[in-house]
Amino acid sequence: MAKKGKLATPDWIIEGYDSPAAYAKAKGKSFTGKKEGKTFRIKVCPKCGSDEVGITLSNMDSEEESNTGKQWECRKCKWTGGNVKEKELTEDELMEHLDKKGEDVA
Ligand SMILES: [Zn+2]
Repeated sequence: MAKKGKLATPDWIIEGYDSPAAYAKAKGKSFTGKKEGKTFRIKVCPKCGSDEVGITLSNMDSEEESNTGKQWECRKCKWTGGNVKEKELTEDELMEHLDKKGEDVA
């Protein structure tokens, strides 16, 4: 008898779903998989809530001394500062978030 290999095809693939999460949802179960503990932190602007923030080193020629060395800048509303906000996203939320972002850019 021929060996079929050790990897069994997951039900969600057999039944034609896009992801284990979609499968769980269709079955009326909440997808618990690896969700717990698997979160992603993103930085967001405290002013406009955008995640278009990045570290800027533009305070080099400023008279103000940098307190931490880290200055953040929002590319959307031009906010700068050191107290950037953090947002915690689950994997699903992150995907959704990235989707939205893709639309914004395009
Ligand atoms: Zn902003």
